[in-house]
Amino acid sequence: MTRVIAIDGPAGSGKSSVSREVARRLGFGFLDTGAAYRALTWWALDSELDLHDHDAIAALLPDFPYSISLDPDLERVRVGEVEVTDAIRDPRISLNVSAIATNPRVRPWMRDFTRSLADHAEYPGVVAEGRDMTTVVFPDADTRILLTAREEVRIARRAGETDAAADVTAQSISDRDAKDSSVVDFTTAAPGVAVIDSSDIGFDETVDAVVGLCTGGNA
Ligand code: C5P
Repeated sequence: MTRVIAIDGPAGSGKSSVSREVARRLGFGFLDTGAAYRALTWWALDSELDLHDHDAIAALLPDFPYSISLDPDLERVRVGEVEVTDAIRDPRISLNVSAIATNPRVRPWMRDFTRSLADHAEYPGVVAEGRDMTTVVFPDADTRILLTAREEVRIARRAGETDAAADVTAQSISDRDAKDSSVVDFTTAAPGVAVIDSSDIGFDETVDAVVGLCTGGNA
């Protein structure tokens, strides 16, 4: 069994960049689980489907030709032969992904799919990040962490990442969090889940804190 470090958190908590760096430090794979929701959204839009049509979206799942690199130094996502690494970060996808992520037929499929990506990883362990990692997908993971930050800090970070106007980013983050939280609770830690609040500590300190929890303080 691959060792799993499960990291949850809201949009803009820094979970993606922190998890990637933790994976590098531990020599583990990095699994960005939001990328599959984004790629499915991209595929549904490309197929001109109504994203709110639960049955039409569910019908895509058995043939979803998705692949993702788990190498923390190689960001690459494909749907079939099409590389969608950049396209899935487009605001068009961020604005629409919750319609897919709140589809009750999509979530159990994604849970099993994510587990099988981790199982087949060619690494001694995987750092899996995404909103339901500690609770739904890997409730028995070796280490489970909820990474949080205050809302204004998360908005400022996301605005810096996307070059978008801060108010548009704020709108997008709080809309997405509100929609997503209707199906997953990613703001309170489940029993046994450690909380790290990155609002007032730097990136390196946050990574150190996560690595410390993964190695029992022997990093
Ligand atoms: O992590 P990221 O912001 O790229 O995730 C995009 C979207 O995918 C989230 O807003 C959420 O709707 C969905 N998602 C999810 N469960 C996960 C990862 C992402 O529902 N484990």
